[in-house]
Amino acid sequence: MCGIVGYIGNSQCFPVLIKGLHRLEYRGYDSAGVAILNQNNELNLYKTRGKVADLENFCQSKEIAGSIGIAHTRWATHGEPNDINAHPHMSADGNIAIVHNGTIENYNVLKQALTKHGCEFKSETDTEVLVQLIQYVKETNNCTLIEAVTEALSQVVGAYAIAVVDRDTPDTIIAARKSSPLVIGIGEDATYLASDATPIIDYTDKVVYLNDDEIAIIKKNEPLRVITSDNEPSNIDIKTLKLSVSQLEKGGYPHFMLKEIFEQTSTIEDSIRGRVVNNHIQLSGVNENSEKFASADRIIIVACGTSWHAGLIGKRLLQDIARVPVEVEYASEFRYSNPVITSRDIVIAISQSGETADTLAAISLAKEKGAFVYGICNVVGSSIARATDSGTYIHVGPEIGVASTKAFTGQVTVLTMLALAIGQLRKTVTPDTLVRVTSAIEMLPALIKETLGLNKAIEKLSNTYTYVHNFLYLGRGYNYPSALEGALKLKEISYIHAEGYPAAEMKHGPIALIDHELPTVVIAPMDELHDKIISNIQQVKARGGSVIAIVTKGDKAIKEIADHVLEIPKIPECLSPIIVSIPLQLLAYHIAVKKGCNVDMPRNLAKSVTVE
Ligand code: GLU
Repeated sequence: MCGIVGYIGNSQCFPVLIKGLHRLEYRGYDSAGVAILNQNNELNLYKTRGKVADLENFCQSKEIAGSIGIAHTRWATHGEPNDINAHPHMSADGNIAIVHNGTIENYNVLKQALTKHGCEFKSETDTEVLVQLIQYVKETNNCTLIEAVTEALSQVVGAYAIAVVDRDTPDTIIAARKSSPLVIGIGEDATYLASDATPIIDYTDKVVYLNDDEIAIIKKNEPLRVITSDNEPSNIDIKTLKLSVSQLEKGGYPHFMLKEIFEQTSTIEDSIRGRVVNNHIQLSGVNENSEKFASADRIIIVACGTSWHAGLIGKRLLQDIARVPVEVEYASEFRYSNPVITSRDIVIAISQSGETADTLAAISLAKEKGAFVYGICNVVGSSIARATDSGTYIHVGPEIGVASTKAFTGQVTVLTMLALAIGQLRKTVTPDTLVRVTSAIEMLPALIKETLGLNKAIEKLSNTYTYVHNFLYLGRGYNYPSALEGALKLKEISYIHAEGYPAAEMKHGPIALIDHELPTVVIAPMDELHDKIISNIQQVKARGGSVIAIVTKGDKAIKEIADHVLEIPKIPECLSPIIVSIPLQLLAYHIAVKKGCNVDMPRNLAKSVTVE
């Protein structure tokens, strides 16, 4: 996590750095800081605990002139979020400043060695160890900054994206990456640097994505140079961004999360564009690898968080429609589980950002073992998009709210199309099902629009539940993962404890929790298990619990027994998680807003989890 921004050019860097940090704040917001090199070769460092706005206030009366600078918004991994642990970190001689995203796993060994050589440390971070190491190498080897950075990085175990400035080379920023993202923007008379392209798009659409083990030498008014860690020149592949500034703004909504919930009518349209043709699915990633998909023995889905919930729905879809055995694993567990993988397996990696560290590690493991790896991610050009053999973008546009909404529905839509595409290939999907499901996919934008009509009712309903301490979410079949996702959404942004459970499992434990203080959200659209879920609702009611039920329009039976019903339009069962997620997202959102929580930047969380 954490966001890095850098600027080197002919204008003032501070406004660019601050605006960039605001764009990257979704990645972490424990503290923020800047280091600016000015005309007199002074390196001014300002950093503070809190958000980017706090840094802006802090800098108001400070000397911020300068046209070379690096900046950081932190999600702490080593050392509490305070002023001292905030980035940038400086070398002891005050000449070198660094910003870092990632974790230096062997920082303790390095710190002990440096301490023996007389180094003193101000912070508890792993990052400060790296900058002190760079200074130490530079002094002892009497070498240049670039040589010192290369040598220091060769001693580091872990993940990093770094940007370094040095008073001894005042026209240069050195940047490097391993497992954490870094993008360089090539402007007319300036070069930009950031953890993703969002801080860059205002100035240029020409970018270079740095690869693992590459080091960029960015000099004022000189062409970019990139070398490998073995000091070989790298090919510079300039890409053109397809991103617009309006996608990065709230567009009149009070929060990005609400904007992104409402955007789902159009984002789903973008996810399906060109992929449903005459009741047939066209996914280039599947067509180009038809042999692999037709003959695979098994699919293993690896993902984290909300993407893992999408993966659970994907399992049902792939099993039902494509009749392939599917396993779903948390990427963080999979990578350390000594999994049995063969070259006849397909591993599907799901990640909104395409940068999730655990998912990336799971991908390398799967590739090592010979599996074909397919990515489902949102951010074009991200590390996962580049590390996988093939894949499908969800194309929902930048998701800025930390709690995922439109990316989740985009992922489930893509997984539905993927299941149908594989079903077509393996001839497991009947023409009737194909027509029924593809027609419903094309209806999704309109059905989502209709479902968003629940917003006012949910806002009102949220008043009743603002001060509740616990929530239970129940669902069955396709909507068991919806229950998990609904509970996660509420936890993430309102800090109310919530548990998702398969409805029928409730009697094996969670039923003990039910009393008049524990509301239960029951996801109960009209499907095969409808009668069974009515019994589950009765069991909750019989014990004094209140029930909010999400039902198909016109469901009289549940209306009679539930305390509140939220009606959604009729939809084939396999697509119901997409529609169901709309009221679940809105419920979490309104409760969190009523509680006064910062829904776009919930405490302790960050989007794009680029650390283990
Ligand atoms: N490990 C560094 C720290 O704790 C950087 C964490 C990050 O990526 O934000 O400060």
